[in-house]
Amino acid sequence: MTFADLWRELEPLGRDPQTGGYRRYSWTEADAQCRAWFTVQAQRRGLTVEPDHNGNLWAWWGPPGAGAIATGSHLDSVPDGGGFDGALGVVSALAAVDLLREKDFYPERSVVLAVFTEEEGARFGVPCLGSRLMTGVMDPDRARALSDNKGVTLATAMAAAGFDPARIGPDEQRLSGLAAFVELHVEQGRALAPLDAPVGIARSIWPHDRWRLEFAGRPDHAGTTRLADRHDPMLPYAGTVLAARQAAAAHGSLATFGKVIAVPGGTNGISSSVTAWLDARAPDEATLEATIATIRSAAEKFSTEHNVTLTASQESHTPLVRFDPALSNRLATTLAGSEPLPVLPTGAGHDAGFLAARIPAAMLFVRNPTGVSHSPAERADLADCEAGVRALAAVLEDLAGRP
Ligand SMILES: [Zn+2]
Repeated sequence: MTFADLWRELEPLGRDPQTGGYRRYSWTEADAQCRAWFTVQAQRRGLTVEPDHNGNLWAWWGPPGAGAIATGSHLDSVPDGGGFDGALGVVSALAAVDLLREKDFYPERSVVLAVFTEEEGARFGVPCLGSRLMTGVMDPDRARALSDNKGVTLATAMAAAGFDPARIGPDEQRLSGLAAFVELHVEQGRALAPLDAPVGIARSIWPHDRWRLEFAGRPDHAGTTRLADRHDPMLPYAGTVLAARQAAAAHGSLATFGKVIAVPGGTNGISSSVTAWLDARAPDEATLEATIATIRSAAEKFSTEHNVTLTASQESHTPLVRFDPALSNRLATTLAGSEPLPVLPTGAGHDAGFLAARIPAAMLFVRNPTGVSHSPAERADLADCEAGVRALAAVLEDLAGRP
């Protein structure tokens, strides 16, 4: 099967007909369809598919054992996300296996295709949950208790999908069997387009924080409560959004409020509480800390001014990742044509970032002509996707071709 054939099959799964965006949330029906599709495709290729204790899927080309070369990505999406984020890496892995088979290549080291669960954190709030659990940086008790917008816990959702949530946690045995992980991903930015390069190599991932800010005020009548008597949590929230933008600009970082819930949410009422989620990223840890500190102190100041109580809690911290230089250099050597491939940093988190703490990991980016991501407008040209498949196949041939 060609890349385009595979893509056509996966494309409709979990896509909202109204917005054209994807809602592939982990442990939902759409997620189950994607997982089933991957399983069938892998089995058609004679790969042995097994879920691990954390709900990630592994498809083995060759016997499971020491020194395997892993590749893959994720199939879940953000709300109304694009079709390429995650899926491109999974489909490219399957297509790369086909390409190598056509060349009668047989791996000296086993190749394993991975699909990580809850990479976006769209349902349970913690990104890269599957790789965090596997590598032991996420406490299993805390993970089991994470809940979605409807109050369903991860434990309940996994159990409903036939997984035993009691078994989630570090997977040392699996990690010790992997010699390297290479994740191909659509570029989430626009660095490759001006360089006229279809494929690039990742150098690092910026550190990343998620904070939950709850502004608690007093519900009251919008038509009768004097301005001076109000405890309106919307006001410190609004001030904080603008302060976050200023802090990001001042520090050379990024700060975003993308999710906010006002309770009770009446048009003619002052809210009792406003809960908002801050996503902040920066080139290094110190800059990230400084950005968060500036935003928190602004939130405190505005809350005091408006007689509102602020509770700020950190939901996740993802440290700076530097990808393995030896592995990245080997990719660069394998893929160098007349010119070397561009090497880029990124502000987006990936499972490869968590694996990088434990095993040599590297990433390939496929050009995104507009740079738009986490949106239905996200795209990559077919020719670039095919170039990505050829690059990934060449990398696997190099890494798995020698014992
Ligand atoms: Zn992704």
